[in-house]
Amino acid sequence: MASSHTVLMRLVASAYSIAQKAGTIVRRVIAEGDLGIVEKTSATDLQTKADRLVQMSICSSLARKFPKLTIIGEEDLPPEEVDQELIEDGQWEEILKQPCPSQYSAIKEEDLVVWVDPLDGTKEYTEGLLDNVTVLIGIAYEGKAIAGIINQPYYNYQAGPDAVLGRTIWGVLGLGAFGFQLKEVPAGKHIITTTRSHSNKLVTDCVSAMNPDDVLRVGGAGNKIIQLIEGKASAYVFASPGCKKWDTCAPEVILHAVGGKLTDIHGNALQYNKEVKHMNSAGVLATLRNYDYYASRVPESVKNALVP
Ligand code: AMP
Ligand code: MG
Ligand code: MG
Repeated sequence: MASSHTVLMRLVASAYSIAQKAGTIVRRVIAEGDLGIVEKTSATDLQTKADRLVQMSICSSLARKFPKLTIIGEEDLPPEEVDQELIEDGQWEEILKQPCPSQYSAIKEEDLVVWVDPLDGTKEYTEGLLDNVTVLIGIAYEGKAIAGIINQPYYNYQAGPDAVLGRTIWGVLGLGAFGFQLKEVPAGKHIITTTRSHSNKLVTDCVSAMNPDDVLRVGGAGNKIIQLIEGKASAYVFASPGCKKWDTCAPEVILHAVGGKLTDIHGNALQYNKEVKHMNSAGVLATLRNYDYYASRVPESVKNALVP
């Protein structure tokens, strides 16, 4: 019975089903073969038909069920009637069986802000690096990211024809994160994951200062946080503006729910209230463990160049 569940848990359960639907749209657009690529601010800042359709799907599906939410999506889209076929009405029952952390049990719909990245890793999506792509739905309360859903539409796509394609990871602070197997990088190894398509001298200076054993250059903020929680990388280092609140909100929750830490490059927590500026101007530093090691190695010159 819906009424016996808290607003937060109903929203997370709905967002899970909505994110799964989003994954099917992302796969369908590739299968149909017409990506409809539009350049936004530059040749490395792209939008495809999948970004547009998924944002319409997520935002309309959420708004129908939760009309008082504040929903902030990445894409600027003209207001138009959304095709009924894009609406997802389901909710993931497994989530409704979980208890709502007591500190969130009285939250009202109008107190929540939802940050939506309909397709994170668009540049890589257009280049066929499909497992870099994620769909991100982050939920914030009083400026803090408290719940998040990540769908990875092409998880397993290189694992052969019998593998199940796609997965959804979700988490709530105080409850935990689910849908993956937590794994750590071997102790003492410094494996840095960073941008593939948006690098510059600040980014490379900061990565070098970490004394890395290895550097992974991959697309997507969601994808990089998945690398941290699955033991593929020990730190996500992005010493540059460019990444926005919809990129970090959901991934941050998943990381924090398993004991990791995500901040800007100065060590400041990110804020997610609806009035906040969208750009993470002072970059991103995230780790599952040993945050202090990486934070202590950010060069002063890099910090001075990045104003929060
Ligand atoms: P990346 O690690 O390059 O995949 O970036 C993570 C997220 O931040 C993606 O959603 C990117 O589109 C976004 N981003 C980072 N840098 C830039 C930039 N210079 N211009 C536009 N988007 C960026
Ligand atoms: Mg993104
Ligand atoms: Mg995006």
